[in-house]
Parts: sequence; structure tokens; C-alpha cells
Amino acid sequence: MIRDVDPALMQKIRRYGKGGRLQVESCFQCGNCTAVCPLAQDSAGFPRRVIRMAQVGMERELLASEDLWRCYACGECTATCPRAADPAEFMAAARSYAISRYDFTGLASLASRSVLGNLLVFAGLSLFFALLLLSRATPSSAHLPFFDFVPGEWVHAIGVALFVVVGLSMVAGLASMILRFLSERRREGVPLRAGALPAAMASAILEALSHQRFRQCNAEEPAPAAQPWYLRPWVVHLSVMGGFLAMLLATTLDYLLKPIGSPVPPWYPMRVLGAAGGLICLYGLAIMLFRAEPEDEAHWRKRTFAEWFFPVLLAVTVLTGLSAEILVYLPMTPAGHAVFIVHVVLAMDLVAMLPLTRFAHVLYRPLALALFAWRHAPERQAAAAEA
Ligand code: SF4
Ligand code: SF4
Repeated sequence: MIRDVDPALMQKIRRYGKGGRLQVESCFQCGNCTAVCPLAQDSAGFPRRVIRMAQVGMERELLASEDLWRCYACGECTATCPRAADPAEFMAAARSYAISRYDFTGLASLASRSVLGNLLVFAGLSLFFALLLLSRATPSSAHLPFFDFVPGEWVHAIGVALFVVVGLSMVAGLASMILRFLSERRREGVPLRAGALPAAMASAILEALSHQRFRQCNAEEPAPAAQPWYLRPWVVHLSVMGGFLAMLLATTLDYLLKPIGSPVPPWYPMRVLGAAGGLICLYGLAIMLFRAEPEDEAHWRKRTFAEWFFPVLLAVTVLTGLSAEILVYLPMTPAGHAVFIVHVVLAMDLVAMLPLTRFAHVLYRPLALALFAWRHAPERQAAAAEA
């Protein structure tokens, strides 16, 4: 069988990890990473099969692989790699590369390849949203409520336009992933039955919400007794994800059910839901950002800029949002207006950058889980029938 290969693939992926210093070429396929990775049990050769694809330039296969997205970035594989190939960071870099290939605007590539590119995209978007909002502001009225200072209808019009543009970009990215998956499975002759799809989707949603597989990461070390449950990586990840979803739901319901800017008491359900989601999210982010790594693990758990950027952006957005929730009940001041504008701009940045950065895994991972379950449905059914 003739395969298209891209000899420069590894070099291209390397640009997306560790500022270009990723040394995954040194991998000699020993299999240590597969032995320790908790996800390898239902997919033999995970994660080194993906590394092999990059080493031999199989771009089409790599971009059609669900394995990229199933990795939880726990770092267990990196800790045991005898060649310092850093497979966990390779998987993250390969995901960033895939995001930039699924994206048609070219912005994902700019935002993911370097710190400067990331900051440029962030600064450009911030400036754009700030100018857009302030173009309708009433600067002379320091004591106006938020949605009179900048008309609520204007804020929501920008928000809706943003969601439409980002939504279309997400759909295009997801469609690109699905088409690559289908084309590659067809080429491999893997049977995909439409009837098995609903169950595959249900199992992916269940996994995304319960973090069942994630719980197996770092399950052995440190000893469970030494690490309380509320500090375990899957709990922290679930806090950030659940808190974020709660805030998104509160904002959406608020927009749909309440006239823009109308006053409500602090116990208004959407306000309580948003504040609770914000606090839960902040808890997870604080652990994520400030947790001290054990000394013997600090060298391989060292975070890259890409890993810092989104949690910090999300944390500042949540903090300014919670501050605005309090300020709305106090006499209005220019400082209050500034907090409000910063919050709205950062929230818009978050949405706009979602499909462009590593945070895009919130889109691609659930889809990849569903595609993986769909592909392996016949084996799972056979195993269930035998049991
Ligand atoms: S990444 Fe490291 S542990 Fe995994 S197969 Fe390669 S050399 Fe072995
Ligand atoms: S980072 Fe964790 S989940 Fe990802 S490949 Fe390595 S061991 Fe497996």
C-alpha cells in the first residue's frame, strides 16, 4: 500500500511544544510509556503509536487519530521515559498541531507556535473588543449602571456575533476531524455501523462528565492516602470544567430569561449559579496553578507558557466577573466601570481563543472519545457477549 509521508512532520510538530525544544526523535519505541499509561489498556500501543506516526511522517493518519485527544496529560509516561523524549509534551504539541491544521483561519497556528504569537493574538483581540465596546460608552457618566454605561443591547449584539463566528469555526474544525477520521477508517477497512453511534456518543458524554478514565491517571502515586481526594488531578480538572459550564449556563439563561440589565437580588438563581460556578472554577484553577510539585517530579512536570496561559486568563476573567457581581450592588464608580469592561473583554477573548489554543481540547476530546468508542464498538460488544 502506498502511503503519503511528510518527512518534515516531526519538525513541524516540534514547533508547537516546549518552544521548539521537544526531543521526541530520541524515542526508540521501548514501550515504557505504554506500560505505565492507564489509557493503553483499551488501545495497545498508546501513546507510542502516535509518536511513531510523527517519526515516519504519517500526517494523514496522525490527524485522523482519536488517540491524540484521549490523553489526559498526566505526565506518567514522561516520568518513565528512559530517553527524555517527553511523550506527554509530545502529545500536547501534536494536539496543538492538529488544532492548527483543523483551523482554516491560520490564527490557531499563530497562537500556538510561540509565546509571542499567542500574546499577539490575545492583544489584538483584546484591543478589538475594547474599542468595539467603548465606541458606544458614555464616559461622562461615572455613576451609570454597567449596562447604561455601555448599552446592554450593544454588549449582547457583540456577544451573539462572536458566538456565531466562533461556533462556525468550531463546526468547521470538528467537521475536519470527522472527515479525516471517516476517510482513514474507510481506507483501513474498519467497519463503522451507524447503529452503534448513539451508544458511542452516550459513552463519550458519560466519560467527559464523570472523568472515569482520568481517575486512573496518577492513581498509584503519590499513595492515595498521601493525597486527599480534593487535590487529585481529575477532581481539579472536573472543578474547572464544571465551574466553567455552570458560568456559561448562568450567562446563557440570564440572557434568555431576563431583560438586559434589569436589577435582581443577590439570591436570583442565575446569579447564585454563576457565582457558585465561578468559585468552584477558581478553586480548581488555584490548585492547578499553585500546586507545588514533589521535588523528584518537578523537572518533568515543568509547565510551558501554553499551559499557563489559559488557566491564568480564565482565573482573571472569573475574578473580574465575581468582582462585577459585587460591584453591581454598590454605588457605581469609574473603577467599577473599568472592572466591568476588563471582564467583558476577557470573557470575549476566552470565547474567541477557545478554538485556537490548547483549550480547544474541550471540543475535540469528547468527539474523539465518541469516535474511539464507535470504532471499537464491535470488539466491545464481542467482549460483553463472551463475559
Ligand atoms: S517515548 Fe520514551 S518511553 Fe515511550 S516508547 Fe519512546 S523512548 Fe520509550
Ligand atoms: S500523559 Fe498520561 S494519559 Fe497521556 S499518554 Fe502519557 S501517561 Fe498516557
